[in-house]
Amino acid sequence: MLELQNVETFYGNIQALKSISLEIAQGEIVTLIGANGAGKSTTLMSISGIVPPRSGVILFEGQPIQGMPPNAIVSMGISQVPEGRRIFPYLTVLENLDMGAFLRDDKPEIKTDLDYIFELFPILAERRHQAGGTLSGGEQQMLAISRALMARPRLLLLDEPSLGLAPLVVKRIFEIVKKINSENNTTVFLVEQNANLALKTAHRGYVMENGRIIMADAADKLMVNEDVRKAYLGI
Ligand code: ATP
Repeated sequence: MLELQNVETFYGNIQALKSISLEIAQGEIVTLIGANGAGKSTTLMSISGIVPPRSGVILFEGQPIQGMPPNAIVSMGISQVPEGRRIFPYLTVLENLDMGAFLRDDKPEIKTDLDYIFELFPILAERRHQAGGTLSGGEQQMLAISRALMARPRLLLLDEPSLGLAPLVVKRIFEIVKKINSENNTTVFLVEQNANLALKTAHRGYVMENGRIIMADAADKLMVNEDVRKAYLGI
Protein backbone atom coordinates (compact mmCIF):
# COMPACT_ATOMS: atom_id res chain seq x y z
CA MET A 1 0.00 0.00 0.00
CA LEU A 2 2.78 2.41 0.95
CA GLU A 3 6.40 2.28 -0.05
CA LEU A 4 9.19 4.71 0.81
CA GLN A 5 12.33 4.44 -1.29
CA ASN A 6 15.46 6.27 -0.14
CA VAL A 7 13.55 9.22 1.29
CA GLU A 8 15.69 12.15 2.47
CA THR A 9 14.12 15.09 4.29
CA PHE A 10 15.77 18.27 5.51
CA TYR A 11 14.98 21.24 7.73
CA GLY A 12 17.20 23.85 6.09
CA ASN A 13 20.67 22.35 6.34
CA ILE A 14 19.69 19.76 8.94
CA GLN A 15 19.12 16.34 7.44
CA ALA A 16 16.39 14.61 9.47
CA LEU A 17 15.83 11.55 7.24
CA LYS A 18 18.75 9.66 5.71
CA SER A 19 17.71 7.34 2.92
CA ILE A 20 14.60 5.90 4.57
CA SER A 21 13.07 2.87 2.88
CA LEU A 22 10.06 1.02 4.28
CA GLU A 23 6.88 -0.75 3.23
CA ILE A 24 3.40 -1.09 4.64
CA ALA A 25 0.91 -3.63 3.29
CA GLN A 26 -2.84 -3.12 3.15
CA GLY A 27 -4.46 -4.11 6.46
CA GLU A 28 -1.32 -3.98 8.60
CA ILE A 29 -0.55 -2.04 11.77
CA VAL A 30 3.10 -1.07 11.44
CA THR A 31 4.96 0.84 14.12
CA LEU A 32 8.00 3.08 13.96
CA ILE A 33 9.84 3.30 17.25
CA GLY A 34 12.92 5.21 18.31
CA ALA A 35 14.29 7.77 20.73
CA ASN A 36 13.50 11.48 20.87
CA GLY A 37 14.66 13.26 17.72
CA ALA A 38 15.27 10.04 15.74
CA GLY A 39 13.11 11.32 12.88
CA LYS A 40 9.81 9.52 13.50
CA SER A 41 7.53 12.58 13.20
CA THR A 42 9.48 13.75 10.16
CA THR A 43 8.82 10.39 8.49
CA LEU A 44 5.07 10.84 8.98
CA MET A 45 5.18 14.47 7.84
CA SER A 46 7.13 13.47 4.73
CA ILE A 47 4.39 10.97 3.85
CA SER A 48 1.54 13.43 4.50
CA GLY A 49 3.27 16.19 2.53
CA ILE A 50 3.64 18.60 5.44
CA VAL A 51 7.45 18.46 5.18
CA PRO A 52 8.10 17.33 1.60
CA PRO A 53 11.20 15.16 1.09
CA ARG A 54 14.12 16.60 -0.85
CA SER A 55 14.74 13.28 -2.62
CA GLY A 56 13.43 9.74 -2.79
CA VAL A 57 10.11 8.22 -3.79
CA ILE A 58 6.90 7.68 -1.81
CA LEU A 59 4.41 5.37 -3.51
CA PHE A 60 0.83 5.10 -2.25
CA GLU A 61 -1.06 2.28 -3.94
CA GLY A 62 1.58 2.44 -6.67
CA GLN A 63 1.32 6.18 -7.31
CA PRO A 64 4.12 8.62 -6.45
CA ILE A 65 2.88 11.17 -3.89
CA GLN A 66 6.12 12.89 -2.89
CA GLY A 67 5.85 16.62 -3.58
CA MET A 68 2.04 16.58 -3.70
CA PRO A 69 0.30 19.13 -1.41
CA PRO A 70 -1.12 17.74 1.87
CA ASN A 71 -4.77 18.28 0.85
CA ALA A 72 -4.27 16.18 -2.29
CA ILE A 73 -2.66 13.45 -0.16
CA VAL A 74 -5.65 13.50 2.24
CA SER A 75 -8.00 13.20 -0.74
CA MET A 76 -6.08 10.13 -1.91
CA GLY A 77 -6.80 8.39 1.41
CA ILE A 78 -4.02 9.23 3.89
CA SER A 79 -4.82 11.09 7.13
CA GLN A 80 -2.42 12.08 9.89
CA VAL A 81 -3.15 12.52 13.59
CA PRO A 82 -0.41 14.96 14.63
CA GLU A 83 1.69 14.76 17.76
CA GLY A 84 0.13 16.84 20.54
CA ARG A 85 -3.34 16.31 19.00
CA ARG A 86 -3.78 19.87 17.63
CA ILE A 87 -7.55 19.91 17.65
CA PHE A 88 -9.32 23.24 17.10
CA PRO A 89 -9.83 24.36 20.74
CA TYR A 90 -12.51 27.00 20.08
CA LEU A 91 -14.61 24.81 17.79
CA THR A 92 -17.08 22.31 19.23
CA VAL A 93 -16.49 18.56 19.02
CA LEU A 94 -18.97 18.39 16.14
CA GLU A 95 -17.30 21.26 14.30
CA ASN A 96 -13.89 19.63 14.74
CA LEU A 97 -15.31 16.44 13.21
CA ASP A 98 -16.87 18.42 10.34
CA MET A 99 -13.44 19.87 9.59
CA GLY A 100 -12.14 16.32 9.16
CA ALA A 101 -14.71 15.78 6.40
CA PHE A 102 -13.88 19.12 4.74
CA LEU A 103 -12.70 17.56 1.48
CA ARG A 104 -15.68 15.19 1.14
CA ASP A 105 -18.96 15.84 -0.62
CA ASP A 106 -20.77 12.53 0.06
CA LYS A 107 -23.11 13.90 2.76
CA PRO A 108 -25.11 10.72 3.62
CA GLU A 109 -21.92 8.71 4.12
CA ILE A 110 -20.41 11.47 6.28
CA LYS A 111 -23.39 11.02 8.61
CA THR A 112 -22.80 7.23 8.70
CA ASP A 113 -19.14 7.80 9.59
CA LEU A 114 -20.13 10.25 12.33
CA ASP A 115 -22.46 7.63 13.84
CA TYR A 116 -19.64 5.06 13.71
CA ILE A 117 -17.30 7.47 15.51
CA PHE A 118 -19.88 8.17 18.21
CA GLU A 119 -20.19 4.41 18.65
CA LEU A 120 -16.40 4.07 19.00
CA PHE A 121 -16.15 7.02 21.38
CA PRO A 122 -19.51 7.55 23.16
CA ILE A 123 -17.93 10.33 25.26
CA LEU A 124 -17.57 12.44 22.09
CA ALA A 125 -21.29 12.05 21.38
CA GLU A 126 -22.04 13.27 24.90
CA ARG A 127 -19.72 16.25 24.46
CA ARG A 128 -20.61 17.06 20.86
CA HIS A 129 -21.56 20.69 21.59
CA GLN A 130 -18.63 21.35 23.94
CA ALA A 131 -15.56 23.31 22.79
CA GLY A 132 -12.69 20.96 21.91
CA GLY A 133 -10.29 22.85 24.19
CA THR A 134 -12.39 22.03 27.26
CA LEU A 135 -11.99 18.26 26.80
CA SER A 136 -9.50 16.21 28.84
CA GLY A 137 -6.24 15.16 27.18
CA GLY A 138 -7.55 11.66 26.48
CA GLU A 139 -10.79 12.98 25.03
CA GLN A 140 -8.81 15.39 22.83
CA GLN A 141 -6.76 12.46 21.53
CA MET A 142 -10.00 10.58 20.77
CA LEU A 143 -11.24 13.69 18.95
CA ALA A 144 -8.01 14.04 16.97
CA ILE A 145 -8.21 10.39 15.85
CA SER A 146 -11.90 10.79 15.03
CA ARG A 147 -11.30 13.98 13.06
CA ALA A 148 -8.74 12.08 10.94
CA LEU A 149 -11.20 9.20 10.48
CA MET A 150 -13.82 11.64 9.16
CA ALA A 151 -11.70 11.93 6.01
CA ARG A 152 -12.31 8.17 5.61
CA PRO A 153 -8.62 7.31 5.25
CA ARG A 154 -7.38 3.97 3.98
CA LEU A 155 -4.07 4.72 5.70
CA LEU A 156 -4.05 6.37 9.14
CA LEU A 157 -0.81 7.96 10.38
CA LEU A 158 -0.70 8.23 14.17
CA ASP A 159 1.98 10.33 15.86
CA GLU A 160 2.55 9.47 19.55
CA PRO A 161 -1.07 8.87 20.57
CA SER A 162 0.01 7.92 24.11
CA LEU A 163 1.86 11.19 24.81
CA GLY A 164 0.95 12.71 28.17
CA LEU A 165 -2.02 10.42 28.83
CA ALA A 166 -2.87 8.25 31.84
CA PRO A 167 -2.20 4.51 31.36
CA LEU A 168 -5.89 3.55 31.43
CA VAL A 169 -6.76 6.11 28.75
CA VAL A 170 -3.82 4.97 26.64
CA LYS A 171 -5.03 1.36 26.91
CA ARG A 172 -8.50 2.38 25.71
CA ILE A 173 -7.10 4.37 22.78
CA PHE A 174 -4.90 1.50 21.64
CA GLU A 175 -7.83 -0.91 21.82
CA ILE A 176 -9.74 1.43 19.53
CA VAL A 177 -6.79 1.65 17.12
CA LYS A 178 -6.86 -2.16 16.85
CA LYS A 179 -10.62 -2.06 16.35
CA ILE A 180 -10.39 0.55 13.58
CA ASN A 181 -7.80 -1.65 11.90
CA SER A 182 -9.72 -4.92 12.16
CA GLU A 183 -13.32 -3.70 11.68
CA ASN A 184 -12.70 -0.97 9.16
CA ASN A 185 -9.74 -2.49 7.39
CA THR A 186 -7.86 0.78 7.91
CA THR A 187 -4.11 0.37 7.60
CA VAL A 188 -2.23 2.06 10.46
CA PHE A 189 1.28 3.51 10.66
CA LEU A 190 1.95 4.19 14.32
CA VAL A 191 4.80 6.32 15.63
CA GLU A 192 5.42 5.78 19.34
CA GLN A 193 7.98 6.38 22.03
CA ASN A 194 6.19 3.83 24.18
CA ALA A 195 7.83 0.92 22.37
CA ASN A 196 6.33 -1.74 24.60
CA LEU A 197 2.78 -0.68 23.85
CA ALA A 198 3.50 -0.05 20.18
CA LEU A 199 5.01 -3.51 19.65
CA LYS A 200 2.09 -5.14 21.47
CA THR A 201 -0.33 -3.37 19.13
CA ALA A 202 1.48 -3.67 15.78
CA HIS A 203 2.07 -6.59 13.42
CA ARG A 204 5.48 -5.32 12.33
CA GLY A 205 7.90 -2.65 13.41
CA TYR A 206 10.78 -0.50 12.25
CA VAL A 207 13.39 0.92 14.61
CA MET A 208 14.82 4.34 13.84
CA GLU A 209 18.03 5.96 15.07
CA ASN A 210 19.51 9.29 14.00
CA GLY A 211 17.45 9.57 10.85
CA ARG A 212 18.01 5.98 9.68
CA ILE A 213 16.05 2.74 9.87
CA ILE A 214 18.33 0.34 11.75
CA MET A 215 16.04 -2.66 12.20
CA ALA A 216 12.83 -4.12 10.77
CA ASP A 217 10.98 -7.24 11.88
CA ALA A 218 7.73 -8.76 13.12
CA ALA A 219 6.61 -6.97 16.28
CA ASP A 220 6.86 -10.10 18.45
CA LYS A 221 10.44 -10.67 17.24
CA LEU A 222 11.45 -7.06 18.00
CA MET A 223 9.89 -7.42 21.45
CA VAL A 224 12.38 -10.18 22.36
CA ASN A 225 15.35 -8.71 20.50
CA GLU A 226 18.17 -8.05 22.98
CA ASP A 227 19.18 -4.65 21.52
CA VAL A 228 15.59 -3.42 21.35
CA ARG A 229 14.93 -4.57 24.90
CA LYS A 230 17.98 -2.74 26.22
CA ALA A 231 17.52 0.48 24.23
CA TYR A 232 13.75 0.92 24.08
CA LEU A 233 11.98 -1.39 26.49
CA GLY A 234 14.06 -0.56 29.55
CA ILE A 235 14.65 -4.26 30.30
P1 ATP B 1 10.11 13.24 18.99
O1 ATP B 1 9.59 11.96 19.50
O2 ATP B 1 10.86 14.03 19.98
O3 ATP B 1 9.08 14.04 18.22
P2 ATP B 1 11.09 12.26 16.46
O4 ATP B 1 11.72 10.94 16.38
O5 ATP B 1 9.68 12.38 16.00
O6 ATP B 1 11.24 12.82 17.93
P3 ATP B 1 11.64 14.44 14.67
O7 ATP B 1 10.70 15.37 15.35
O8 ATP B 1 11.23 13.87 13.36
O9 ATP B 1 12.03 13.24 15.63
O10 ATP B 1 13.04 15.17 14.50
C1 ATP B 1 14.12 14.67 13.72
C2 ATP B 1 15.26 15.67 13.68
O11 ATP B 1 14.86 16.83 12.98
C3 ATP B 1 15.71 16.15 15.06
O12 ATP B 1 17.11 16.30 15.03
C4 ATP B 1 15.02 17.49 15.20
O13 ATP B 1 15.76 18.35 16.04
C5 ATP B 1 15.00 18.00 13.78
N1 ATP B 1 13.83 18.86 13.54
C6 ATP B 1 12.52 18.52 13.70
N2 ATP B 1 11.71 19.56 13.37
C7 ATP B 1 12.52 20.57 12.99
C8 ATP B 1 12.30 21.90 12.55
N3 ATP B 1 11.08 22.38 12.39
N4 ATP B 1 13.39 22.66 12.26
C9 ATP B 1 14.65 22.16 12.40
N5 ATP B 1 14.93 20.90 12.82
C10 ATP B 1 13.89 20.12 13.11
